[in-house]
Amino acid sequence: MISNAAHETIANGKVALSFCRKSGSLVRIGDMETGMEYLAEPSGARLFRLMESLGIGNLQFTEFSGEVIHEFAQLPQLADEFVKAGIQHICLWHRAGGLYQMNGATKEIMDEPETVLQELEKALADVKESGINMSIILNLRLLKVIFDPYREIGESEAIRSKDGSPASREAYPGSPYHLNNLGPSYNLGDSVTLCQRPESPFAERARTLVEKMLNLGFTSIFIDQPLNSQCCFAPQHAHSAPDLAHHDCVRWMGDVSRLVKARSEEGYVIGELPELFQTQKIDLWWYWQWKYLSPEVYRYSHPDSLQLWVVDGDVGELNRAFAMGFYANLTPAGMERGMSGRPAVAAQAAALAKLREATAAWTVETRFVDREGLECESAPGIVAYAFAGHGRAAVIMAETAGVAGEARLTFEPARHGTTANEAGVLLRQTGVEEPTTPPENGRHTLKIELAPFDVAVWRFA
Ligand SMILES: [Zn+2]
Repeated sequence: MISNAAHETIANGKVALSFCRKSGSLVRIGDMETGMEYLAEPSGARLFRLMESLGIGNLQFTEFSGEVIHEFAQLPQLADEFVKAGIQHICLWHRAGGLYQMNGATKEIMDEPETVLQELEKALADVKESGINMSIILNLRLLKVIFDPYREIGESEAIRSKDGSPASREAYPGSPYHLNNLGPSYNLGDSVTLCQRPESPFAERARTLVEKMLNLGFTSIFIDQPLNSQCCFAPQHAHSAPDLAHHDCVRWMGDVSRLVKARSEEGYVIGELPELFQTQKIDLWWYWQWKYLSPEVYRYSHPDSLQLWVVDGDVGELNRAFAMGFYANLTPAGMERGMSGRPAVAAQAAALAKLREATAAWTVETRFVDREGLECESAPGIVAYAFAGHGRAAVIMAETAGVAGEARLTFEPARHGTTANEAGVLLRQTGVEEPTTPPENGRHTLKIELAPFDVAVWRFA
């Protein structure tokens, strides 16, 4: 690994991360177990355009049972609800991305009658005209043995253990996030895990499906589970070594990313489950459970990647995600009812979308710096985080418990090389803007009352 005057490297035995000393950005990722190295390639302008908006919304069109929830013709009306909530990016879920086929159908995703596909194409064209970026989820990794594509690639493309048996049969026992507890027809049943790798029958099927979705009118693609943590001993896969099956998965994801982005300047790739080695391929990381972790660590160590924070009906959680600079990932009412199913979240999202747009130069084009230079004494439901860079700085504060409270803050922008001798400006989510007290010896102070679920941005220079 490179570790010199320009770069600082942090290693834990499995992963080595090299950061640019000047910008703090991640520049190189090393896999200490395989010796493979990956250059971090942030998406630059494309990513900033995304970050200046609030987030994405999700809509499920068929139940896991195969039952239709919405007709595709309803997409423009459902999309309009998201637009009113400040959301311009929508991910469509159909048959859970092709993973679950529970109504007896074993077809490939979107093997629908021509009339249904025409309805979808028209709906996609309509919402695209309104400036909406539509994506669709695809799971290409797990394959049920009763599913038609299994007969084509299930045997040859499965990850194999040393004795030749398929290495994994996922059924998610005990997972509250999956569907075993709803009855036997809802689990994955007998299935295989495919070896995601380039230049293979697997990759050919993946490319065909991704192109089919882009041809229908989707702009972006959500790849469910773009990962492989297992060794693969399948001789026909010709991995350089069994543990380099992971490396081949990363290479394949690069092919998908290039395919999507070559089709549109606005195209991006969402990937489920953060995976360090994929950071340069995936624009938006989908993770279900940030609230149970220390999410500040990820915002701090990966400023050039964008993490989606799943929010269903909790306005406080939406506020907390916003205050840390996460990208909102709205799944209103289990993704089934659109924003009308979560009116409180819809109203707050609309306010936060305006606030992010108005403060993007301070909260998006800068870097998350957690509490460095910031002191905050407040009611327990209030959180505050600092951002700094390009001669600017800001503090986002948010009430997350639904209880009015007071906060007293002290902030020193000079700790981040930002000279802010003038008074700061406080912008509330209502749009009200007011100057704050001028600093003393570089220290800005603020005493603020926040209403329940109130968010405000304090900006400098
Ligand atoms: Zn393999």
